Amino acid sequence: MNARIIKELRDRLGKGRVLDSPVERVVYSYDATWGEALPDVVVLPLSTEEVSTTLKIANRERIPVVPRGAASGLSGGAVPVEGGICLSLTRMNRILEINPDELIAVVQPGVVNMDLQKAAATYGFFFPPDPASWDMATLGGNVAENAGGPRCLKYGVTRDYVLGLEVVLADGQVMRTGGRTIKNVAGYDLTRLFVGSEGTLGVVTEITAKLLPKPAARATVMGIFDEIEQACEAVNGVITSGVLPLTTEIMGGGCPAAGPRRTGGAAPPDVDATLLIDVEGWPSALAQESDVVARACQAAGAREVRRAGDEEEAERLWAGRRSISAALSNLGDKLGEDIAVPRSKIPEMVRRIRAIGKKYDLRTPIFGHVGDGNLHPYLICDRTDAEMMERVRQAAGETFTTAIELGGTLTGEHGIGLAKRDYLNEGLDPPAREKMLAIKRLFDPNNILNPGKMFAETEREP
Ligand SMILES: Cc1cc2nc3c(=O)[nH]c(=O)nc-3n(C[C@H](O)[C@H](O)[C@H](O)COP(=O)(O)OP(=O)(O)OC[C@H]3O[C@@H](n4cnc5c(N)ncnc54)[C@H](O)[C@@H]3O)c2cc1C
Repeated sequence: MNARIIKELRDRLGKGRVLDSPVERVVYSYDATWGEALPDVVVLPLSTEEVSTTLKIANRERIPVVPRGAASGLSGGAVPVEGGICLSLTRMNRILEINPDELIAVVQPGVVNMDLQKAAATYGFFFPPDPASWDMATLGGNVAENAGGPRCLKYGVTRDYVLGLEVVLADGQVMRTGGRTIKNVAGYDLTRLFVGSEGTLGVVTEITAKLLPKPAARATVMGIFDEIEQACEAVNGVITSGVLPLTTEIMGGGCPAAGPRRTGGAAPPDVDATLLIDVEGWPSALAQESDVVARACQAAGAREVRRAGDEEEAERLWAGRRSISAALSNLGDKLGEDIAVPRSKIPEMVRRIRAIGKKYDLRTPIFGHVGDGNLHPYLICDRTDAEMMERVRQAAGETFTTAIELGGTLTGEHGIGLAKRDYLNEGLDPPAREKMLAIKRLFDPNNILNPGKMFAETEREP
């Protein structure tokens, strides 16, 4: 990218908001995957107008633009693989409105999920999407990835809580979609189109989010199992007994051994799986619902069932789950995956993941949100061992095709980005894929927005 364009950006946006020193570019070169690539320049807008100015210049000059939030993404979406402009939205981080009468919040994209949760809590509300990365990920990133989290079984995913968006399109035009109402069927649902579009169709500059009243209380039950399949069965037992839990978090196949050592946590390291089920609502109902959960765990063959007596104990039971991704690093390098299957197929998927691990001689701890069908099988490896990494590649590919074969999907919440781009052929019906590419061409005819992500066809000529 030539000096003339960098100077124009600097003249239009002002000092300190356009970074191009090698050190600054390195800081913006990666996300939470193994991917890394240097942007030519980093732009830090403070307003929608500045995002629009940047996109107008980029579109005129045909320069790639990669929107970026906190870079906690797990599919390589924010890695600027084709150079160009890294558009960091983290300085657009104001909560513009919390409206208690309408139960909505209006926020800029750089607001961190946790900060919205804290602000909403002061009114007795909450924002249901709660990715485990909630203390770092931005709402712009949550919207772009349609983020999920442990509470999805009960509350759904990010798209279910986005009422309206302001988006800057590739040519710099500012477009509003949706609005402030729960009901809105005027025209096509462009809001939903942009949620989960991974920065390939436009830059989200404002989000109107739906909030909910915070339930009065919460109770936690932990089931400890000798077989991970028993834990899956317990979840079905709970749901079919008429209780809709808040969370159904499983940690199995080596997770308990990795987790508690780090956290001083709850489960003995020799068990195959632990299951954390939370229920929430009025305190008077919680005791009964916890009984149902405990009985379902026992009926499925739990070795032990623990019930948290208070918040502190619940936190102790949750500590191992919260730190599991970091704790698995104790076992070696790790490739974290993210498939989803219909709930009834979870036991089969777990069996198949274990068989894949055996076939490729790899350890495959699994954790996930059983109730909504979303599993995170991890492949433990050594990145310096080329032969092992080839086995990892094949095992990951087989895991994706197995999920699809069982009626599921390549990704439940982390997105396609770069990491799964080359598998998307298998993951989509061909006419649907073709229409998606047509939508990309319609919104971004010069292919400047996050090129090379999601679809291999959007890679640009070198
Ligand atoms: C420890 C850990 C736990 C995690 N747990 C979960 C989990 O439970 N559930 C879950 O869903 N994810 C999880 N993630 C993944 C990640 O946190 C989410 O995908 C999150 O939504 C990304 O937000 P971000 O601000 O970091 O976005 P980034 O990583 O910066 O960007 C992600 C994508 O969004 C695009 N983007 C960012 N901002 C905008 C914008 N304003 N407009 C348009 N496009 C934009 C980027 O171009 C990129 O394609 C986890 C990650 C980590 C590291």
